[in-house]
Amino acid sequence: MTHGMTKRSAVVVGAGVFGAWSALRLARDGWRVTLVDAYGPANGRASSSDHSRVIRAGYGADTIYTQWATEALTDWQWLSKKSGETLVEECGALFLGESGSAHLAATAATLTTCGVTHERLDAAAVASRYPQLGVIGLGDAIYEARGGVIRARRAVAAAVATARAYGVTYRQARVLPPDESASVPVVHLADGARLEAEQIVFACGPWLPALLPDAVGGRIRPTRQEVLYFGVPAGDVRFAVDRLPVWIDFAAGVYGIPDLDTHGFKIGLDRHGPAIDPDTADRVVGEDAIATARAFLARRFPALMDAPLVDAHVCQYENTTSGDFIIDRHPCWTNVWVVGGGSGHGFKHGPAVGKHVTDLLGGRAAVEPRFALAGKSTEAARAVY
Ligand SMILES: Cc1cc2nc3c(=O)[nH]c(=O)nc-3n(C[C@H](O)[C@H](O)[C@H](O)COP(=O)(O)OP(=O)(O)OC[C@H]3O[C@@H](n4cnc5c(N)ncnc54)[C@H](O)[C@@H]3O)c2cc1C
Repeated sequence: MTHGMTKRSAVVVGAGVFGAWSALRLARDGWRVTLVDAYGPANGRASSSDHSRVIRAGYGADTIYTQWATEALTDWQWLSKKSGETLVEECGALFLGESGSAHLAATAATLTTCGVTHERLDAAAVASRYPQLGVIGLGDAIYEARGGVIRARRAVAAAVATARAYGVTYRQARVLPPDESASVPVVHLADGARLEAEQIVFACGPWLPALLPDAVGGRIRPTRQEVLYFGVPAGDVRFAVDRLPVWIDFAAGVYGIPDLDTHGFKIGLDRHGPAIDPDTADRVVGEDAIATARAFLARRFPALMDAPLVDAHVCQYENTTSGDFIIDRHPCWTNVWVVGGGSGHGFKHGPAVGKHVTDLLGGRAAVEPRFALAGKSTEAARAVY
């Protein structure tokens, strides 16, 4: 803390998981912070919305994400204690792959290097442990014991509430796109007010390309993504979080979350959908998504193949070229930061992103080359899974 001294000040625009944790970590570090969001923390349009997100440390050969996810889990548990809410269920994460999958081999090697508890399982072991899961076409699997699911919307709400308890001022207002050709950046709100701070963080998820067209533009491409919740049979507890881990079927491009809080068995389609406008898009899932999910259920969770659809959600990924985040200075302004590009996997890393942002603004860290704007092009070449 900076008792008796003037606090350093920051405005954080965007109260999704990245902005909420940036505000919280900055405030914990003694900064005076204003957090602004147009629609509210983890609102229905935001990428951080919906009930649940997968948490896992397994990321192929990507040590940086394995380490960040591991650090972040400690912070999520800290936030759970602080807020008195169970935000995370460590029900385990199961990665399913084809026989000889290079991705799974790289994942296991990285988990070993980073000291993350995991087991290799073959199809027979998966079948005997989880008889509710069909193993047709399955080769290898990895079980990560401390993977699981986070209650996403509640977790962002808890981060914002805790940030406020640390002194953050929260305002619900839309920030206007700044004039990127001006020599000094100015944050104007749509209601005419102007916010002053030494440092400005734009953590606006899929809105970043429109808000900062010069700096970001086509380097982030928001795509429409669909998740479906299927009702489990009456009295059937085999699909609850104490009986099944979260799972990712890499070959199928499908992942799922057990029946968390009896809301339904969640199926997510990970293939990139068409372009989406996060402000104006209607959020009704398409028949083809339902058909794809049902065909998948018939193969992997046959007991659910005729289960009714009980809820659905359309969200968006904010994809960078490779899937790596953007956490970098604005090219024209030394005190403005661009934080986003979660690319369908950012949620779990929120606390680590917030810490890194705090270290950057405090001059304690350098921009991580993988997260630099400079390396991002407008072409899609996904490399992070
Ligand atoms: C379907 C789906 C499934 C996913 N699954 C997983 C998963 O299992 N595990 C995982 O780790 N990650 C997952 N992700 C990715 C993760 O959810 C995102 O990477 C993360 O939530 C991005 O957070 P953000 O804070 O950058 O963006 P957002 O949550 O979109 O937050 C941006 C905020 O900025 C605000 N804003 C925008 N413009 C303005 C403005 N002009 N003025 C004021 N406020 C503004 C918005 O209102 C919004 O609240 C998934 C994403 C989707 C869509």
